Amino acid sequence: MPTVLVLNSGSSSLKYQLVDPGSGTALAGGIVERIGEDTGRVRHETRGQEVVRERPVADHGTALRLVLELFEEAGPSLREAGIVAVGHRVVHGGTSFSAPVVVDDDVVAAVRALIPLAPLHNPANVTGIEVARELLDVPHVAVFDTAFFADLPPAAATYAIDAKTAAEHGVRRYGFHGTSHQFVSSAVAIHPAVTAKLAAEGRDPRTLRQVVLHLGNGASASAVLGGRAVETSMGLTPLEGLVMGTRSGDVDPGIVFHLLRSGGLTVDDVDTLLNKRSGLLGLGGVNDMRELTRLVAAGDDAARLALDVYLHRLRKYVGAYAAVLGGIDVLTFTAGVGENAAVVRAGAVDGLGFLGLAVDPARNAARSREARVISPGPDAADTADTARPRPGAAAPALVMVVPTNEELAIARQTIALTG
Ligand code: AMP
Repeated sequence: MPTVLVLNSGSSSLKYQLVDPGSGTALAGGIVERIGEDTGRVRHETRGQEVVRERPVADHGTALRLVLELFEEAGPSLREAGIVAVGHRVVHGGTSFSAPVVVDDDVVAAVRALIPLAPLHNPANVTGIEVARELLDVPHVAVFDTAFFADLPPAAATYAIDAKTAAEHGVRRYGFHGTSHQFVSSAVAIHPAVTAKLAAEGRDPRTLRQVVLHLGNGASASAVLGGRAVETSMGLTPLEGLVMGTRSGDVDPGIVFHLLRSGGLTVDDVDTLLNKRSGLLGLGGVNDMRELTRLVAAGDDAARLALDVYLHRLRKYVGAYAAVLGGIDVLTFTAGVGENAAVVRAGAVDGLGFLGLAVDPARNAARSREARVISPGPDAADTADTARPRPGAAAPALVMVVPTNEELAIARQTIALTG
């Protein structure tokens, strides 16, 4: 039973999971938080048991040493668990990496060279790789969040700005959350409801038109045609696109100049505003969808507007991606909000019956950890009007919920590369 340790290094945190890629189970996992601050904290979970330690954690090296100690003390022992490789989540692969790679010194240098494109994320990723290579003598693999989108069609990847300036500074659309979009769209493509739909329509799987909505604290949409990503909502950075927990998503770039010239804000102020003080938090006062929907239910007007803006943006993107793909066969929700918030799923397809999209209220409300169909259909308890074929109506699409699992996706890609 070979296992893979998956590491996700943030600027002040280190998330980890020991994964058995064969069975898809996580044997243990946890997070070290507040690295570099006075009050560090590590939470290690295995077999339903949780161990928490609070102590200052000076840097990522100390954090990883602490994690390795916990594996020995609380289990499972990495050696006995058969660790064969470490898989690292790396946020930005630029145009250098369109697939996972086994890490060597050149790869570390290349990830470091991409820091100007991802100043908030790649420095921590480099540090995480460096300390892990020192402490764990197994092959290390870097899996890039941008890789699934490396092959976006030029028309989708290119910003309409001066071409020479763009080329000089690496300005293009890269996309993020690629590991999740790839994992989810691959799972959708082999789901029995989807293969049955294609078979019934006599269609080749290469014509399958999918839209995936990854709605977590960060949020992004992708359009996938026959397994290839053809459009995505995040761009040069993870700031573009949908409304997120604390990020604005799409704004007129003119807002930036206005705030710099007339608002007295500095470049860093505007960066913080758009990345950390906008989105649901900026409009509704909270970034967590659970709290936001509670406020909406209590009649809070600001929260209501925040949710309306969030849902309006989602519907706009789904409509745009239907145009990009020439129709939608499957719309899939994933990540914290997408997997759990029935009210968001219902709101995101509200009024999109003309695209063949609808949710069955009972299926949408049911809670499950399994990949499932929530659109109306022959088995639905409540067969909504939109499910019945009507003359001239779009063929009904499937709406699905598919839990994402980025750690498992990274572990599988790591094993595939290291054998
Ligand atoms: P993620 O980034 O995928 O971990 O998603 C985190 C976000 O998912 C949280 O900030 C919440 O807004 C949201 N979330 C988690 N559980 C629920 C739930 N039961 N209902 C609504 N939103 C949820």
